Amino acid sequence: MTPKALSVRAVRSVTLRGPLLTTRPTAYFISNVHKQQTRSFIPAMVARVASTNLLRYFGLGAVTGTAGVGGYMLFSDPDVEELTLDDIKVPELALHPSKGGMKDLPIVTNNIDDTSDEIDKPRLVIIGGGWGAVSTLKQLNEGQYHITLISPTNYFLFTPLLPSATVGTLDLRSLCEPIRKILKRVAGHYLEATATDIDFDRKLVEVRTKGTDPTDPSSAKSFYVPYDKLVIAVGSTSQTHGVDGLEHTYQLKTILDARAMKRKVLDNFEKASLPTTSPEERKQLLSFVVCGGGPTGVEYAAELFDMISEDLGNVFPKVLRNEVSVTIIQSRDHILNTFEAGISKYVEKRFSREHVNVVTNSRVQHIEPTKVIYDQKRVVVDDNGEKHEITETKEVEFGLCLWSTGIAPTTFSQLVRSKIPEQNNRRALVTDERLRLKGISDSSVYALGDCATIDNPHLVEHIMDLFQEADKDKDGTLTWNEFRDCVSNMVSRYPITENHMTKLKDLFDKYDIDRSGTLDMDEMRQMLSDIDKKMTSLPATAQVADQQGKYLGKKLKSLAMTARPPYTALDDPPLGPERSPVRATLAIAQAHESQYPPFKYTHLGSLAYVGNTAVGEFSGGFKMMGGLWALYLWRSIFLSEQVSLRTRSLIMLDWTKKWLFGRDVSIL
Ligand code: FAD
Ligand code: MG
Repeated sequence: MTPKALSVRAVRSVTLRGPLLTTRPTAYFISNVHKQQTRSFIPAMVARVASTNLLRYFGLGAVTGTAGVGGYMLFSDPDVEELTLDDIKVPELALHPSKGGMKDLPIVTNNIDDTSDEIDKPRLVIIGGGWGAVSTLKQLNEGQYHITLISPTNYFLFTPLLPSATVGTLDLRSLCEPIRKILKRVAGHYLEATATDIDFDRKLVEVRTKGTDPTDPSSAKSFYVPYDKLVIAVGSTSQTHGVDGLEHTYQLKTILDARAMKRKVLDNFEKASLPTTSPEERKQLLSFVVCGGGPTGVEYAAELFDMISEDLGNVFPKVLRNEVSVTIIQSRDHILNTFEAGISKYVEKRFSREHVNVVTNSRVQHIEPTKVIYDQKRVVVDDNGEKHEITETKEVEFGLCLWSTGIAPTTFSQLVRSKIPEQNNRRALVTDERLRLKGISDSSVYALGDCATIDNPHLVEHIMDLFQEADKDKDGTLTWNEFRDCVSNMVSRYPITENHMTKLKDLFDKYDIDRSGTLDMDEMRQMLSDIDKKMTSLPATAQVADQQGKYLGKKLKSLAMTARPPYTALDDPPLGPERSPVRATLAIAQAHESQYPPFKYTHLGSLAYVGNTAVGEFSGGFKMMGGLWALYLWRSIFLSEQVSLRTRSLIMLDWTKKWLFGRDVSIL
């Protein structure tokens, strides 16, 4: 071994593999000794223990166990690679990036872990590390793109089970999968940073790091990341509805939110147990208010109620039980109003049995440090029997308030929108049916998940094309057969219309206003305009983001396969218009993309946890409302949706742990 190789090995061991050093040499040592010892030790031991059955079983068990552990140590002991300095090639441009772009910032054309055969690949940059981003990544193959993912959090968060983490039913770590592990499969690169801007002309994403000193903003650095293909999957933030005082509330979006909420609830219980706390203070500390009766608010209320009744009630002074209250304030007349009415009513009934107060038809006016002030609409009947709607202003004190009233675009999404004149939707970035960002002509930018919405196709604007293509005999009307062809053409072009194109015969009859047995242009126009009005955007759910990510990942994979690079590695300059081979490849890909089928959403169903059971509605009209089996179905569905075996196993262990020992009430 050369001295150079030795020194590299030492440095690697100390700096990169430091924490493992304590276990690894020991394992190596034991496995070698063990190999020698077992040869003479086994026959002797077997002879000695054969005298009794018990000892025989014990002996066999011990031998098998030892062999298993020894084998594990032997085979799990990873080879220590011998690396020379030549093996670890860090591209020069990664260490000393050149500067450029509008703001003359470093342009990170190479990452410090780039390999030489990567830099000639089209650069795929993904902004965000949530549902949309991860399901895109999971479809790609290694070697097709030079992939860089930018996100301030270095883990994927399984949001649907986040309410369970706020009360300790699940451990916070069980919901997180490191992004680097997910990226490893495709040899992608991760940058812990926040995207702050995009230069669409030069194809540069501006990012900002967290900085080395959180108290000193100047320690954060900005730089550009160049892209050939860009995926925007930055999710959303909470909707404020212009309400003042939200700084006194909690929002449940991140793992830190879940941890803070758990601490706050337990801390309030501890404070309420102190002899110095007055009865009024105790009541306020133990009042938990949820603003918003959607699935997140309802699931949090249910989880909180579970924790209070199953765990806190047992370990905290009994007197607190009478002081605890959980209140949901909902603006509509029912909670869970995206679910079928029967399900909402079932949950309301269940909550009223469990003393969770549901306050409906109420809009939060403003929030004070320990009080929510809201306006409640009520119908009263006067002395003459006439009904009037009145609005009363009420208030409820809280020790913890969760604000969960819908989503709004992030500041980054808003900035992107403001840079593209064609982006005219204030709530989300608009894409076409192939998830390409509207206003970017070369198909280089995609947006998906909570931050994006697919443009309504405005069918009326396409009436001439649709009608003329279908009217085969050119008589200016559509017969029943022509109408069916027209619909199937429309659905394949705009899959978003599919849900409105059911019961075709009824539709045909309904719009054949003059009862002529055919549809003319005016009748078709009426139908398309009615469908346009009914078409709503897809819901902001993990289910949508996941399906969009899968679609986009498959498409990017297919584009990479159809457009094989006509060049060899390292021929290609790293940046700029001179990257002609990559550009040529992308031009082929773009041509193929228009042939690629549009995104089609399949709604599989909706679920909500409502306290030791679940409710749900599924495609085909199947509903579930409570019962133990609903709980297990809910659990199975979320287990099957996990992104790794690791999180799946951890979650199963957490549920078992909670069942055996209850939730942990320590404030950590
Ligand atoms: P996200 O998953 O939110 O990911 C956004 C990512 O972008 C994050 O990694 C974030 O750090 C990163 N990011 C943000 N800004 C930037 C930036 N400027 N630069 C770089 N990175 C950035 N949906 C369901 O279908 N079923 C459920 O049961 C369900 N339950 C939910 C429960 C809770 C508590 C919450 C909060 C949401 C729930 N949802 C559920 C909704 C679901 O989580 C979202 O619809 C889904 O996460 C959207 O995926 P996304 O990829 O668009 O965004
Ligand atoms: Mg007619």
